Amino acid sequence: MIRINENYAKLKASYLFADIARRVGAYTAAHPDKPVIRLGIGDVTEPLPPACVEALHAATDEMSKRATFKGYGPEQGYAFLRDLIAKHDYADRGCKIEADEIFVSDGSKCDCGNIQEIFASDVRLAIPDPVYPVYVDTNVMAGRTGANIDGRYQGILYLDSTASNGYVPAVPQAPADLIYLCFPNNPTGAVATRAQLEAWVAYAKLNKAVILYDSAYEAYIRDPRIPHSIYEIEGARDVAIEFRSFSKTAGFTGTRCAYTVVPKTLMAFDAAGKPQALHPLWNRRHTTKFNGVSYPVQKAAAAVFTEAGKAQVKGLTDFYLANAHLIRESMTRLGFSCVGGDNAPYIWINVGRDSWDFFDLLLEKAQVVCTPGAGFGKCGEGHVRISAFNSRENVEMALSRIADALK
Ligand code: PLP
Repeated sequence: MIRINENYAKLKASYLFADIARRVGAYTAAHPDKPVIRLGIGDVTEPLPPACVEALHAATDEMSKRATFKGYGPEQGYAFLRDLIAKHDYADRGCKIEADEIFVSDGSKCDCGNIQEIFASDVRLAIPDPVYPVYVDTNVMAGRTGANIDGRYQGILYLDSTASNGYVPAVPQAPADLIYLCFPNNPTGAVATRAQLEAWVAYAKLNKAVILYDSAYEAYIRDPRIPHSIYEIEGARDVAIEFRSFSKTAGFTGTRCAYTVVPKTLMAFDAAGKPQALHPLWNRRHTTKFNGVSYPVQKAAAAVFTEAGKAQVKGLTDFYLANAHLIRESMTRLGFSCVGGDNAPYIWINVGRDSWDFFDLLLEKAQVVCTPGAGFGKCGEGHVRISAFNSRENVEMALSRIADALK
């Protein structure tokens, strides 16, 4: 008799964004005359940078000719893209990352979801709360947790991110083996200082642990003191894997390109306590289960590193950050305390009441969709996330409607 993976039954009833879509769907069906502005899901709205579009067209033309046609490429990504990433994202920031330590993929969601496969099934997990749900749910599916009791899975060491620690968790007293960190953070928009990251690297060394560092929003950092990569911290090569994505950097959410860095010096341990390099494990996993990102998409991603591409990406992220500034200023003026929005496209707003109630209030009174903080974890209760990914016109209209609704 075929049996299901019963770990799936432990997952909370539905995915956050499915719940939001259901409520918004019900509202728009009942009020077809009231257009809704979506500042909920973190999807970009602006088109691809022209440099990327040009590269996509040129690469598509190459695919149309026998002489330049490409079939399967290297699973880990073409050397032209890995070399550019190593130079611009790492060497130029003083980080020692080699091109062959970079694995190009079709998204950070898959990478942060799949990475847990290369670790033992009984590793001790430390995961922030609130959090991008993928880190938790993929470990639940893999059977690393117990039941969800009162909003928390048994077996996870939750790292509370609250107003009292500036939404950046300090290292815990208890030991952990696999630590998820995300800065600039989704959902809070908080960033970690160099000293805070140094403490995490020291903790990982002490505990022989691995940090999974998600820096999908790195391109939004404007404060020059804030590290863009965990590898800017001395010794991080030996304890951290880093995830990056072109999604929020260059509008690739629908184009799909990302990468994961697994340094060759990064070790985990076998049952006998002997160090084993993680690079060959991830290489094995990646080449067995993934067949590479398409050539035109990798060419488009490479265009991000041209002079024109860099300027266009800066323009794009500046545009969303200006939206974020408007949102934070307006919500602060309405009396809410907010974080994020200065080095991240998300604003995390302490609404001081049930987050789904506030979500319903904004939907019904202002026809604006935000994301209820409770959907990101227990510590998200009392907060909502507003995303800066929208047109200026929509952001301004949403803020004016919110101000009217909350008068
Ligand atoms: N990591 C974080 C923190 C995110 O918020 C997202 C997307 O919203 C991703 C990863 C996924 O990015 P990608 O589009 O590369 O799958």
